[in-house]
Amino acid sequence: MDTVKLYEQDAYRKTFSSIVEDSISEKGIFKVALRETAFYPEGGGQPADHGTLGDVKVLDVQERDGIIWHTVSEPLPKGASADGRIDWERRYDYMQNHSGEHVVSGLICRTFGCSNVGFHMGSDVITMDFNTPMTWEQAMEIEGRANRAIEMQIPITASYPTAEELADLDYRSKKELSGRVRILTIEGCDTCACCGTHVRTTAEIRLVKILSLQNYKSGVRITMVSGNRALEDYRRKHDGISAAARLLSAKPEETAQAVERVLEENGRLRYEMAGMRKRIAQLQAQTIPEGTAACFLDEPLAPARGLREIANALGERADNVMVMGENGAYVIKSADSRARALQEALRETFTVQGGGSDQMVQGVIRGESVQIEEAFRAAAERVQR
Ligand SMILES: [Zn+2]
Repeated sequence: MDTVKLYEQDAYRKTFSSIVEDSISEKGIFKVALRETAFYPEGGGQPADHGTLGDVKVLDVQERDGIIWHTVSEPLPKGASADGRIDWERRYDYMQNHSGEHVVSGLICRTFGCSNVGFHMGSDVITMDFNTPMTWEQAMEIEGRANRAIEMQIPITASYPTAEELADLDYRSKKELSGRVRILTIEGCDTCACCGTHVRTTAEIRLVKILSLQNYKSGVRITMVSGNRALEDYRRKHDGISAAARLLSAKPEETAQAVERVLEENGRLRYEMAGMRKRIAQLQAQTIPEGTAACFLDEPLAPARGLREIANALGERADNVMVMGENGAYVIKSADSRARALQEALRETFTVQGGGSDQMVQGVIRGESVQIEEAFRAAAERVQR
C-alpha cells in the first residue's frame, strides 16, 4: 500500500506517530517504510527532509513506486511504532526558498513566455535555468515584482483538478505528468504542477534576492535566495564588506572604488620595484670580476617575469648566471651556451620544471636556496672544464 503523505495535507506538520510497515537492509544501509509520514522525499528539485524516528536519525528519504523509504542510522523492526520529528529549520528554509522560486519562475515565464528548463535547490543558493535571454535590469525588475508579491500576502494553495479541469488549465509543468496532478496556485504569479512543500502565503517568503545571472545555453541561469537564508546572506555580505571598507577607510558602498585604487597603486609599486631590482642588479654586476664562471642570486620576493632582466644584467660580467625569485621561479643564463646542461645537472638533485634554449632556461625549482646555489656553482665549474 502506498505511504500516506502527511506533508501533502499539512506542510507545517513537524511531528507524527506511525507504524513501521517494512524494514530492509541494502548493503548495510537500513531503510524503513512507514504507514504514513511527514518526511518529504527528495523530488521536484526539493531535497529530502532530515530528522528523527524516536532516537534513530533519518538521513535520507526517497519515494519508490508510491512507497516512501526512510534511510535510518539504526535498524527499526517491522511493526514497531515510530515517533517522527522533522528537522524543521532545514525544511522551513526549503519551503521558503521553494516558494520564492515559484514566484520568481512564474513571473519570468509569464513575462517572457519562456520555460523553466532547470531547477536545483542547494544548501546555499537556488539555481534556475530559463530558455530565454534576459538582462540584469530585467531580472531586477522581476525581483522588484516578486518582493511586491510578498508584501501582498498572496495565499499559496494546492489543489487536485480533474482531468477535464486540467485540460482547460494553463499551468507550468517541469516534466510529463501522469495520474493525479497537484496544482500549486499563487494568484498573479504562478500556476504550476508541483509535489513539494510550500509556505502558506507569500508573506512567509520574507525576501527574494536574485544573486547572479549568466548566459546559459540559449537562455540564462539565475541564482537566488529567499527567506531567512536571504537575511543570512545579507548579514554575511554586509559584515564582509564593512570589514573590508574599514581596512580601506572607505564607505561600505564605495569599497569597490577603494579596492580599485589600491590595486592601481599596487601595480605602480610592482613596476617601480622591478625597475629598482634591475638597477641593483646592474650595480651588482659592476662588482663581479670580468669572466667569473658562476654567479647566483636569490631574490625570494622578485616576481618570475622580472628575473630575466636581472639575469641579463649579471650576465654582462659572469659566464653562467642563476637568479631565483618568488615561489621557486628561476632563470639560468649562460654566455657559453650551457644553460640546458646546467638545468640537467640540477635535475640530478632537485625537482626542476621548465625549459628554454642553450642560452637561457627558466621555470620552477623545488629546494633550499643554499643547496641549489652550491649545486649550481659546482655544475658551472664542472661544465666549464
Ligand atoms: Zn513547488
